[in-house]
Amino acid sequence: MIVEVPLGKRAYPIHIAPGLLANAAPLLGPLAPRGRLALVTDSNVARLHLPAFAAGLAAGGIAVDEIVLAPGEATKDWATLAQVTERLLSLGVERGDAVVALGGGVIGDLTGFAASILRRGCRFVQVPTTLLAQVDSSVGGKTAINAAAGKNLVGAFHQPALVLIDPSVLATLPVRDLRAGYAEVVKYGLIGDPGFFKWCEANAAALLAGDAGCQAEAVAVSCRAKAKVVAADERETGDVRALLNLGHTFGHAFEAEAGFSDRLLHGEGVALGMALAFDLSAARGLCPAEDAARVRAHLLACGFVLSPKALGFEVSAATLLHHMRQDKKMKAGTLPFILARGIGQAFVARDVPLGDVEAFLDGVV
Ligand code: NAD
Ligand code: ZN
Repeated sequence: MIVEVPLGKRAYPIHIAPGLLANAAPLLGPLAPRGRLALVTDSNVARLHLPAFAAGLAAGGIAVDEIVLAPGEATKDWATLAQVTERLLSLGVERGDAVVALGGGVIGDLTGFAASILRRGCRFVQVPTTLLAQVDSSVGGKTAINAAAGKNLVGAFHQPALVLIDPSVLATLPVRDLRAGYAEVVKYGLIGDPGFFKWCEANAAALLAGDAGCQAEAVAVSCRAKAKVVAADERETGDVRALLNLGHTFGHAFEAEAGFSDRLLHGEGVALGMALAFDLSAARGLCPAEDAARVRAHLLACGFVLSPKALGFEVSAATLLHHMRQDKKMKAGTLPFILARGIGQAFVARDVPLGDVEAFLDGVV
């Protein structure tokens, strides 16, 4: 299946097909004018999936120059960016070449940013291997590294030339990462597609148990939703792309409190944040309480932990507010919140007093 991201001259296709990883040469040939491709990955993915990918390319006459990095969020830093960029230059990567990012969101974000600055911008290809990367980070062109002042604070909008998704690679993904990625899947239903949320309620258990058909369907629906949002608001200048931040402002505060460590994965924070966003919407009389309860029940059924205490957080509402104030989206002392009028009816609220949010969180933590 092919999902197009319609961005005028910079439009690009997302190819989604089981088995694609081992058969990527015909799609990558036009992006490898020198018959070689530089590829960035991490050591987990290199062990599990690089051999099949490289063998498929070799069969199509494309050699691979691999750069294998340590797995984990710490890789998205200045030092690794410098190392990757210098290495790409020493490999002779030219502007007409494409650099391949084979891995999760960490590899995609770092490689995309390196490509955006290499020779003032060269092409890159996303080959996402986590559910989170397949449904979210590989599409849309946000690239970044982390800075001392915070996560994703240094980066660029740089769209990939091509996205290749092989859902069958999810078979090797640890279930905790699969579940975390699923939070971004169910998010599309909660934002604007109640029918898809219903599908999620019926199919999440199978998806999380490894059902390849359900996983492929979830990836396809999510990519279509993301492509539509990106086409409407590429650089998040309006409200459309901002809706994708549902659950993220709350989630981010807990992630920050956890020091952006494995204690709370991004998707786990987003799941907690989405439950809170629906609870806050219900508490403000914006959304039926039954809808908030339904969201919470579904996330709990998926195995998400939705109580800060049960997640091990001993944190005050004031501290969470402090984390929220560091948000990139903070403007003139206010913060936009993504709230909902019901399942599939998210909207951007710019008039929620931070004092109200603190009082709400006081009852939660
Ligand atoms: P990740 O890249 O760290 O991958 C998670 C773990 O899974 C790693 O240990 C990795 O080695 C391993 N892994 C990857 N593929 C595997 C596979 N098929 N089988 C077994 N193990 C595999 O994490 P992630 O959750 O994919 O991405 C998180 C990052 O994405 C964060 O840095 C976040 O800021 C970023 N992000 C970016 C955007 C965007 O729009 N650019 C959106 C959301 C998140
Ligand atoms: Zn996210």
